[in-house]
Amino acid sequence: MQTYTHDVLILGSGLAGLRAALEVLHVSGGRIDLGIVSKTQLMRAHSVCAEGGTAAVLRTDEGDSLELHAWDTVKGSDFLADQDVVFRFVEAMPKEILRLEHWGIPWSRRPDGRINQRPFGGHSFPRATFAADKTGFFEMQTLYDTIQRYGGFKRYDEWVATRILVKDGTFAGLTAWDLTTGEFALFRAKALIIATGGFCRIYGFTTYSYTVTGDGMAMAYRAGMPLKDMEFVQFHPTGLVPSGILITEAARGEGGYLRNREGRRFMEDYAPKMMELGPRDIVARAEMTEIENGRGFEHPSGLGYVELDLTHLGRERILERLPLIREVAIKFNGIDPIEKPLPVRPAAHYSMGGIHTDIDGKTPVEGIWAAGEAAAVSLHGANRLGTNSTAECLVWGSITGRKAAEHAMHQRTIPDAPVREAEEEQGRLEALLRQRGTENLYDIRSRLRRLMDEKVGVFREEKSLREALDEVRALKARMGSVKLDDKGWVYNTDLVSALELQNMLDLAEVIVLGALERRESRGAHARRDYPKRDDERFLAHTLAYRSDDGPRLEYLPVTITTWKPVERKY
Ligand SMILES: Cc1cc2nc3c(=O)[nH]c(=O)nc-3n(C[C@H](O)[C@H](O)[C@H](O)COP(=O)(O)OP(=O)(O)OC[C@H]3O[C@@H](n4cnc5c(N)ncnc54)[C@H](O)[C@@H]3O)c2cc1C
Repeated sequence: MQTYTHDVLILGSGLAGLRAALEVLHVSGGRIDLGIVSKTQLMRAHSVCAEGGTAAVLRTDEGDSLELHAWDTVKGSDFLADQDVVFRFVEAMPKEILRLEHWGIPWSRRPDGRINQRPFGGHSFPRATFAADKTGFFEMQTLYDTIQRYGGFKRYDEWVATRILVKDGTFAGLTAWDLTTGEFALFRAKALIIATGGFCRIYGFTTYSYTVTGDGMAMAYRAGMPLKDMEFVQFHPTGLVPSGILITEAARGEGGYLRNREGRRFMEDYAPKMMELGPRDIVARAEMTEIENGRGFEHPSGLGYVELDLTHLGRERILERLPLIREVAIKFNGIDPIEKPLPVRPAAHYSMGGIHTDIDGKTPVEGIWAAGEAAAVSLHGANRLGTNSTAECLVWGSITGRKAAEHAMHQRTIPDAPVREAEEEQGRLEALLRQRGTENLYDIRSRLRRLMDEKVGVFREEKSLREALDEVRALKARMGSVKLDDKGWVYNTDLVSALELQNMLDLAEVIVLGALERRESRGAHARRDYPKRDDERFLAHTLAYRSDDGPRLEYLPVTITTWKPVERKY
C-alpha cells in the first residue's frame, strides 16, 4: 500500500483547517512538512457558505467590551459553555480580525473608514464583522491566498479519509482514498488536526452543504475519542422554505421582522427586549410554537412557515448589505425580498457538540487535536450565538496549528505505520463494494433524515426519542444488506455516500441517546416532558464513548469561573 509521510496532517480545508495550516507554516518557519487532506476541492469546503459575519470586540470606545462578549456567549450557551474557554476566545478574536485585515480581506466599512459591524442575535452590542453577506467566502479566499506565500505543504484535494489509527493512546496514521485515481493510501505523521466540520446533513431540512456529514467526529468516535454534548443541535430560525437554504441572521441584524399570519411581530411574546434578535434557540422555538398553534402559513410542500419581512429596509440597504440572500430568494423562490416577505422556518444549522477537547483543542489521544465545528472545546455550550463559529474556527485553528507544530518539532521520529490496520480498512471498503443485498442506500439515508427532522427536532420528548433510537439502530442493521451499483474506485459517489451514511448513523445514535438521557431543557435541547433547566442534575457536559453495546455516556462538570447560572431573559 502506498504510504505518504508528513510531520503534521490537517484533515479538512475549511476555515479551521486553513487557519491551522497557516499557523503551522508560520510557527515552523519552513521546518515542518505539512499535508492537508480534504474530500472536497479547497474552495468547496462548507465554510465558503458562511454569510452574516464573525464576532469580535472592536469598539471599546463606543461601549463594547470583552466582558460583555463573554457574558453574551455564556448566557447564550444557557450556562453550559466553559467560562475559561469563553474568555480565551473573546480575548483572541480582535487580533484575528486585524490579522485577516492585514492579509487583505475586504471587510465592509463605515463611512468613516473603520471596519463596520452589525447586530446579531443574542449579542448585546453590534460586533458581527462582515464582508457584505459573503463573509465566509472572503475569509476562505484570504486564507487561501495567504497560504500561497508559503512552501512546505502538499494538498490532497478530493481524498476521502476513512479511518484514524491510534496505537497505545497515540496517533498512528490515517487512511484515505483518492477519488480522482481510486488509490487507497496510508498517511503517517507526528500530529493530526481534525477540522472536518459539522454533521447537519443528518437532517433533511438543513442549511448545510451536502458534504457536511460528520465524518471526522465519527472516525474519532470509532478510534476511541469521546464525543461531547452531541444532543445540542442548533436550528436556525430562517431556513428558506422549502429548500432549507440559509437566509442569514444578518437580515434581522439589518432590521428585518418576523411576522405570523395575523401580521404580528410575534417575538414580542417571547423576547420582548431583543425581539427578532433574541438567541436562535428562543426564536426557533417561538416560530415552531406559532406554526403549531395555527398562526403560521402552510407552504404547498406541506411545511409550515412564518414570514421574514425585509421590505421596509429599502432597496439600497438590501443591495448593499444582503445581495446574496436576495439572489438566493429570487433564484430559488422567485421572490424579491425588496418587494415581498420570505417564507422561513427553523432548519438544522449547527452542531454545538463534537470531538471532546481541552482548552487547547487537544483530544485525549496523544498527537491529535480538533478544531472548528468538528470539535467541542465547549465554547458554545447548549446554544451557539451567530458569528461565534467562524470566529471559533479562526481562534482554535490558530491554537491547534501552533500546538501541533510545536509537538511535531519536538518529536524526533514519526510513529511506525500500522500497515495491517490500514489493510483491514481497505478490506472493509472492498467488502462494502462486494456486498450483496436488496437494501437501497438512498432509502436508508432519506429515512434517517426524515426521522431526525420529525423526532429529534426543535422540540423533543421521551416517546419519540425512544422510537428514534430504535429506528436508528434498525437502519444501522439494514446497512449490512446495502448493495452498491457502482463497483469501481474512481469517483465512486455511491461508496462515498455509503461511508458518509455509516458515519451519520453512528452519530445519530449518539445524538438521540444523549437527548433521551438529558431529562431537562437547556439551550437548543427543548424537552416537552422536562420543560425546565435542571442545574442540579444536568449542569454538565455529556461525553459519549463508543462500546460494542452502543454509546456509553458519562458527564463532565462545566468550568464556571465568573458567572453562576441564572434565568435567561431577552
Ligand atoms: C449557510 C451557512 C451560513 C453560515 N454563516 C455563518 C456566519 O455568518 N458566521 C458564523 O460564525 N458561522 C456561520 N455558519 C457556521 C460556519 O460556517 C461553520 O460552522 C464553519 O464554517 C465550519 O468550518 P470548519 O472549518 O469547521 O468546517 P468546514 O468548512 O465544513 O470544512 C470541513 C472540511 O473537512 C473536509 N472533510 C470532511 N470530511 C472529510 C473526510 N472524510 N475526508 C477528508 N476531508 C473531509 C471537507 O472537505 C472540508 O474541507 C454558517 C453555516 C451555514 C450552514
